[in-house]
Amino acid sequence: MENCPFCKILTGELPSTLVYSDEICTAMMDIQPFNPGHLLVIPNEHISGFSDLPPETGKHIFGIAQKLAQALQMSGIQSDGINLFLADGKAAMQEVPHFHLHIIPRFEGDGFEFRFSPRYLELPTRDELEKNAHHIQQALNID
Ligand SMILES: [Zn+2]
Repeated sequence: MENCPFCKILTGELPSTLVYSDEICTAMMDIQPFNPGHLLVIPNEHISGFSDLPPETGKHIFGIAQKLAQALQMSGIQSDGINLFLADGKAAMQEVPHFHLHIIPRFEGDGFEFRFSPRYLELPTRDELEKNAHHIQQALNID
């Protein structure tokens, strides 16, 4: 896709530091890492959002992410844990409109954290949970 930085990386128009590539996906070093060793896994085809990702591609990407996370932890780069992070949509902090799965090495005191709203401390009632579960079940459409 025109003007997509990840597509430009895949065609070689923009530089990158690749770690892994196959016929379906490519993994590269994030140029603005949360921690050293932060990786991105992207489909080779331009796919914007999570809901557009073909399930088979998603399975493949997740399997490669698992191997990369294992490699990261064996690499000597400080990584006492791993966060997988997927930002789907602008409101969820997706900055590049080409699906990408973050693999983020973690360690105690690395300063990376999620900040929750005060609402987080107010636990929903069971009725609210049931109501929301019902809405999701109503919308769930699995072939
Ligand atoms: Zn793209």
